[in-house]
Amino acid sequence: MSDFKLTYSTMFNPPAELHQQFERAMAVLKHDLGRDYGLFIDGKNVVSLNKIEKRSPIDQYWLLGRFHMAGESEVDAAMAAACKAFAGWRATAWQVRVERLRKVARLIEDRVYRIAAAVSLETGKNRMEALGEVQETAVFFDHYCDLMEQNQGFDQVLPNDPLDDFTSTNRSVLKPYGAWVVIAPYNFPFALAGGPSAAALVAGNTVVLKGASETPWAGRLLAECIHDAGIPDGVFNYLNGSGSVVGQALVDHPQTAGITFTGSYDVGMHIARAQLDKPYPKPCIAEMGGKNAVIVSRHADLDRAALGIIRSAFGMQGQKCSALSRIYVEKQVAERLIALLTEKIHAIKIGDPAVESNWMGPVVTRKAYENFATYSTQLQQQGARLITGGEQLKSEPYVAGFYCTPTLAEAPLSHPLWTVEMFLPIVMLARVDSLDQAMQLTNASQYGLTAGFYGNDEETGWFFDNVEAGVTYANRPQGATTGAWPGYQPFGGWKGSGNTGKAIASFYYLPQYLREQSQTRVE
Ligand code: NAP
Ligand code: MG
Repeated sequence: MSDFKLTYSTMFNPPAELHQQFERAMAVLKHDLGRDYGLFIDGKNVVSLNKIEKRSPIDQYWLLGRFHMAGESEVDAAMAAACKAFAGWRATAWQVRVERLRKVARLIEDRVYRIAAAVSLETGKNRMEALGEVQETAVFFDHYCDLMEQNQGFDQVLPNDPLDDFTSTNRSVLKPYGAWVVIAPYNFPFALAGGPSAAALVAGNTVVLKGASETPWAGRLLAECIHDAGIPDGVFNYLNGSGSVVGQALVDHPQTAGITFTGSYDVGMHIARAQLDKPYPKPCIAEMGGKNAVIVSRHADLDRAALGIIRSAFGMQGQKCSALSRIYVEKQVAERLIALLTEKIHAIKIGDPAVESNWMGPVVTRKAYENFATYSTQLQQQGARLITGGEQLKSEPYVAGFYCTPTLAEAPLSHPLWTVEMFLPIVMLARVDSLDQAMQLTNASQYGLTAGFYGNDEETGWFFDNVEAGVTYANRPQGATTGAWPGYQPFGGWKGSGNTGKAIASFYYLPQYLREQSQTRVE
């Protein structure tokens, strides 16, 4: 076996070995389904009175495991453990924290195939998406360690006071806050649990993670990597439980020092407000939803545009926060683009995403599956034309999973669904009279996560100058609005897509987990 390593570049052109390793890991895992998984508190596996059965969206007969559920007493136990461990962890030299967290990255890499197989079974994403998610998590750990090193632990000497009779030395030191809560969504249950946890931990905070209730397995696998890497007890704790009970109890907990939330706009706004509405304001990093648009100019390379649009609208069944859901195309080239898109949609293979040839799997949740039917009906009832798609697949081999067809709808600009994040493999298209009109429509959204453009050089400069979104791409065949990789594309939203103006894995991310202390010492 070669020592080939998964990276951003191997993701585009994977060798045969990647497929073999994934298939081997999947076969082993499928013989080991249905186990019991506890919570992880103060370095220990913790069982509770309630358990949920988690089944795969690929096939509801596959019981993945029984996952213990936290209640308020486990929230208290996890917070107490994180608070107790904070003193020791913050006093640990940052260089030692870095060394230990790099071990977590190496363990994630060692287990990348096994964890990716579990993520694929749990979410229904295909192997390349699952492997990308897990490898990206290892990269997050390394990246935040790198940032800590590049900034020398965020401890800076400032000029002495300009006084002759005594020496007054000054410095700026960034310090951790305490027990940091991480709340993760179901679509990237490993990376969006691991990334924020890595940042919080390297900065010297301790962590209580709550995974999404639809995806309890990923967080548990992350907890195992962190434990096995020798991170001290209580520094990282993992809870599985519902948002309304466990999530809300963490938000309300008096010892919660800060929160990183990734998920929907409504919940994110609720948590951001709650953090301000405390005896003193507490930090909240809220990464929220999107309603991402692409603009296609009459000068665009339409083959490339069609390829990028398909990948971003239907990759992972349209359930990325960066997924493309709005297409604004100049009317001169609309027919040609629609023809190219339709052809590509008909070539998409749908089915068990663990099978290499299937590109689209099921949607993650039963609720999303039901929403798909509702939105498909609503599209047509309110004046849209379904060019293709709009069906739930209910016959063999799809009968036991949540499979939907990739859907392209041409809709009048007045259609209410232009403003709703459907989070499904549905993309809406409108013909526009000019690029200016397309830009006005793109920016009229309350969201501003990702945006894409296909056109000539001069137009591309105009696009970057005017678009209101945090992650922007021009003329990209790999995806019109998706496919950021840590270290290459910082990832964060504007407006209703994010409350900090700083992106994940950017130069500016880590200081959000730290508070500044100015120290003046007179000798
Ligand atoms: P969600 O429904 O908002 O849930 C996110 C997390 O919040 C889950 O763990 C959820 O628990 C928890 N939660 C719910 N109510 C809570 C409360 N009152 N207090 C504390 N926690 C609470 O989001 P989702 O459906 O899992 O994920 C899809 C959304 O995430 C989309 O809007 C997508 O755009 C967004 N997203 C954004 C980014 C980004 O980087 N900007 C990345 C990925 C996803 P339960 O699972 O029990 O409900
Ligand atoms: Mg939800």
